[in-house]
Amino acid sequence: METSINSISYFRPAAVSATRHGGLDLSSSLVDDEEKLAVANKIDSEKVALGVRMILEGLGDNPDREGLLETPARVARMYQELVYGVNVDPASEITCTFTEETEELVLVKDIPFSSVCEHHMLPFVGTACIAYLPKDGKITGLSKLARVVEVASRRLQVQERMTTQIADAIETKLKARGVLVLLEAEHLCMSLRGIRKPGSKTLTTALRGEIKENTALRQEIMTLLSRP
Ligand SMILES: [Zn+2]
Repeated sequence: METSINSISYFRPAAVSATRHGGLDLSSSLVDDEEKLAVANKIDSEKVALGVRMILEGLGDNPDREGLLETPARVARMYQELVYGVNVDPASEITCTFTEETEELVLVKDIPFSSVCEHHMLPFVGTACIAYLPKDGKITGLSKLARVVEVASRRLQVQERMTTQIADAIETKLKARGVLVLLEAEHLCMSLRGIRKPGSKTLTTALRGEIKENTALRQEIMTLLSRP
């Protein structure tokens, strides 16, 4: 089906279109999800703690002084939380789909995320915007889109790959006619070290299907995304 610009210019409230993260149902805790924790538990925390202890020694500090005594174990637990998504397919987060009589654009913007840069093991923090064109009215819950972002972020990651993984998950699971994913993040490895440019943002996009092919449609989406 062709998507005209008009069809995305006039949103029907029931079809949900641009929404902010504040409107999403994220009531269930992702970290408490038993399945995720089971995956996380495959991480060898003892080995991680041992490595952290060696880093402390390598830095010339004394890992046995009071302030550092629990640090290796604490850091190991922290990494369990930061990378729990490593063996989880982001597409598996789209656990339910609905059929609505809509072929119109769905757009969720400003989904916050934090991930860990695999080159420096420092965080990068930002927001994700997702737009897709449903095929045959197949949509998913908006919170599922936020979960896709969450799982893709919870691993040692690079922003470019994370963007692609989110787009692929939505394209494959919903068979969407078009997908646009835009990530905007500050990388602490650029802020704290090296070039030391705090506040600089990295933007990455992934485009699929009709949104990739239709320049006017893509521009319309970018206009919606740039609205305050
Ligand atoms: Zn980095």
